[in-house]
Amino acid sequence: MIVLVVNSGSSSIKYQLMDMKDEKVLCKGIAERIGIPGSRIVHKKDGEKFIVEKPMVNHDEALKFVLETLIDEKYGAIKDFKEINAVGHRVVHGGEKFSGSVLIDDEVIKAVEEFSFLAPLHNPPNLMGIKAIMKLLPSVPNVAVFDTAFHAKMPKKAYLYAIPYTYYEKYKIRRYGFHGTSHRYVSKRTAEILGLDYNKSKIITVHLGNGASIAAVKNGKSIDTSMGFTPLEGLVMGTRSGDLDPSIVTFLMEKEGLTSEEVYTILNKKSGVLGLTNNFSSDMRDIEDKALENDPLCRLVLDIYEYRIAKYIGAYVAAMNGVDAIAFTAGVGENSPITREEICENYLGYLGIKIDKEKNNVKGTEKVISTPDSKVSVLIVPTNEELMIARDTKEIIEKGIKQIEY
Ligand code: ADP
Repeated sequence: MIVLVVNSGSSSIKYQLMDMKDEKVLCKGIAERIGIPGSRIVHKKDGEKFIVEKPMVNHDEALKFVLETLIDEKYGAIKDFKEINAVGHRVVHGGEKFSGSVLIDDEVIKAVEEFSFLAPLHNPPNLMGIKAIMKLLPSVPNVAVFDTAFHAKMPKKAYLYAIPYTYYEKYKIRRYGFHGTSHRYVSKRTAEILGLDYNKSKIITVHLGNGASIAAVKNGKSIDTSMGFTPLEGLVMGTRSGDLDPSIVTFLMEKEGLTSEEVYTILNKKSGVLGLTNNFSSDMRDIEDKALENDPLCRLVLDIYEYRIAKYIGAYVAAMNGVDAIAFTAGVGENSPITREEICENYLGYLGIKIDKEKNNVKGTEKVISTPDSKVSVLIVPTNEELMIARDTKEIIEKGIKQIEY
């Protein structure tokens, strides 16, 4: 079965064509700057990279061009669109309705549209991708895999905020959590690597990319996660503040005469690592380099970044009443030995965690990095959301089912 995975954002579309026989990536790429001058496709096949410039004014045009690239004699991996058996779409928000991946039909489209009020920057471009593919490949089935779905069944005590209950009823204000496909892949893979029964395990997954979140996965289910009503809550991120006292919002609005939109922008785009370093950088590589040169501010920012992660790990050990394994993933989690080492060494000794520094000194490799006598296993597990989307798509189509329950 050949599955096309589509991750459609506001100005870019990532795609990956996979042969599910051996889960091989046939080719992949990104259509960038859609609707902006300089639009192009960066396409990769067999380790070779091709850049093709072409005007793409909207998602329909961009996906048409992506499909043409897939069958191109030089860059392509298939001869005919008919070889594509199904398309799996990343959809950010599935609200409370979707707790698993689903076959897309009119009802699903309507629901995703309805949840756009919860994810106004993400669900509309996700839908544009779905609708474009439906037009371009009318006879091919489509599956939606939601970022929120893995967390959708967390207990009420974990998802309700202590504000008047009526706001939950009226506006569905609750913790939703994001990065669910990554937390699901990484926790499952962690259990596999360690030979644990996934359904009887306690795993903390630490996803540290530009956006960052952490999840407590107990017996194969997400029971809590750090991102909340929106992806702003929780850890310190590249440009997002993560947790803060909500009265800072009203205080800033009053003192600086800011609108709600302006405060939203400050907390989402100008805070986190970028804000703490006075706009020096949002990239943890820059912060690490400077911290290693003993720059006091970058050292402090790295401390704050790690401290927040360590506090969440402590909280999730309590939430699960124990932990078998902690898995680091995404840009920083996979590639930063110093961050992993300092979190484990400086804060997690009480759990009997011991890191093997040599094993930890790797980037982007799937590996157990704790010592054999460590009471809790610590791992690096490179995330693979595209593979998870492709697997769900295959399962739904092959079994002829409407939905997978995680
Ligand atoms: P996203 O998918 O959320 O955009 P990624 O998972 O690609 O993000 O992570 C991007 C971040 O990973 C970068 O901002 C950078 O800070 C971090 N990163 C990548 N490589 C390294 C590295 N070698 N050391 C430290 N941080 C790294």
